[in-house]
Amino acid sequence: TGKEEVHEFKTETKRLLNIVANSLYSEKEIFVRELISNAADALEKLRHSQNLDSSLESGKPLEIRIYADKEKKQFIIQDYGIGMTLDEINENLGTIARSGSKSFLEKIEKEGSASAKDSIIGQFGVGFYSTFMVGEKITVYTRSAKPGSKGYCWTTDGHGSYTVAEADNVAVGTKIVIELRDDCKSYGSHLEVDAIIKKYSNFVGFPIYLNDQEVNTVEPLWTKEKNSVTADQHREFYRFIANAWDDPQYTLHFKTDAPLSIASVLYVPEKHMESLGERTEPGVSLYSRKVLIQPKSKGLLPDWLRFVKGVVDSEDIPLNVSRELLQDNILSRLRIVMTRRALGWLESESKRDPVKYNEFFLDFGQFIKEGVCTDSMYKKDIAKLLRFETSKTKAGEMISLQDYTDRKQEEQKRIYYLLTPKRRYAEESPYTEMFKKKGVELLYLYETVDEFVVNHLREFQGIDLISADSPEAATDPLLQQALEGDAAQSALSETEAKDLAKWVEETLGPDVVKQVDISRRLDNFPAIVLEHESPAMRKMMQMMEGSAR
Ligand code: ADP
Ligand code: MG
Repeated sequence: TGKEEVHEFKTETKRLLNIVANSLYSEKEIFVRELISNAADALEKLRHSQNLDSSLESGKPLEIRIYADKEKKQFIIQDYGIGMTLDEINENLGTIARSGSKSFLEKIEKEGSASAKDSIIGQFGVGFYSTFMVGEKITVYTRSAKPGSKGYCWTTDGHGSYTVAEADNVAVGTKIVIELRDDCKSYGSHLEVDAIIKKYSNFVGFPIYLNDQEVNTVEPLWTKEKNSVTADQHREFYRFIANAWDDPQYTLHFKTDAPLSIASVLYVPEKHMESLGERTEPGVSLYSRKVLIQPKSKGLLPDWLRFVKGVVDSEDIPLNVSRELLQDNILSRLRIVMTRRALGWLESESKRDPVKYNEFFLDFGQFIKEGVCTDSMYKKDIAKLLRFETSKTKAGEMISLQDYTDRKQEEQKRIYYLLTPKRRYAEESPYTEMFKKKGVELLYLYETVDEFVVNHLREFQGIDLISADSPEAATDPLLQQALEGDAAQSALSETEAKDLAKWVEETLGPDVVKQVDISRRLDNFPAIVLEHESPAMRKMMQMMEGSAR
């Protein structure tokens, strides 16, 4: 081997090294992601350069090999990528915040060749230094793929200086050996490293072997052409990312370039556990260039869509140097795009197969209802996803608000609903009598949350939602009864009726009733109570009475 050179890190580099090693990253395990990203970049650069210059040959497959050894307290990563010349070593490893990858990108952008452009991950020039979070000594063996290049060994303990020397028997590419600190020796554990690779780097575009076993066998489906992906592949992918065993009941796969460049796959699982009291956590993870940025991100979709699983990959998201998300309005734009997509997706599924959608709604309807109540920005669109049984459907059949308004009578100016615990009660209820007679459809709302839903909505496409037991319903001319024949004969006169009403009002007294009015709407019932306390309140009282008994 040739002469050894000792180099001092530049002063600012020393200071920055400290920051990177101690406070840039929230998790130490990130170093695995950073090294894999660098290896993937090196392989991508080789692939790109080989296309232009066939003399570049590593002679080895484009893959990444990692060895974790707890006994030796070592973590080793090797790639057969582009490697580094001596100048590149000094520039890229000896200088912090110098990104060879960024210069590479700038170069190929100037050349106008787009092939590798979307795949290069590096840009900040600090990722490599994350190794100092876990290693007490770092050794890099590297040889450039340029024909005739020599191999080099670069080594440092991260304090002040590094040495570079020529080295023999170095394969084209780069091999990095980390001697792990005592408190970091878990990164020599196969199991632990396996989990970290799967978490952050599973979809990197080259095979990763850990102790000679391939780790990343699941492909990043979202990068593929939609029509080339089979249902089986989606199932496998869904099960991987959702850590689930069921099948997705709905699948959405899309790419857009405007307003943001996004590639995404989303799934609705077959079932959810929230009815069993287990809260569903958000299930969509954010990636940038196939590298995980935020697992199960809370910001990508509104909380009521937490039952959706999947992946969103965007090159446009703003990252800080530690590749964590910057709080930025691009993120809220991403959320808007994603939410709109998800809404459109569910709506089109409901149109494509209404029967299947009703099945979905029976199980997942609670999320949709939560959406109407909590997501004021989108409640009008979410309302299209609601389904209800009505006085005109069979038990178990449901319609949308759109169906309701499409088929209601021309003169009917409102959407009527009745809060009722059971269908049978509604059918026997005095409140529904007139509706039945006049052929006015009534939505049946069975759940307590439904009252909040209608209160939040108030209207659907400009048509008011009105409760069947409200005073407004009582005065709807459409529902007034024209008295005929015997009924007209035996009916009370206006004055008699008024006297009776007055008598009832006085007898019951102000503690019981606010007001007693005359109405011509009832047929088989002499009187009904209109809108005392809210139906939800009423139901709660009933429940309390029930449990007291
Ligand atoms: P970034 O990846 O953001 O550019 P890093 O600190 O991770 O920053 O790496 C700095 C530079 O070192 C890279 O841009 C690249 O030029 C070089 N480099 C790092 N790892 C490798 C590798 N495995 N093979 C070739 N070059 C590498
Ligand atoms: Mg990097």
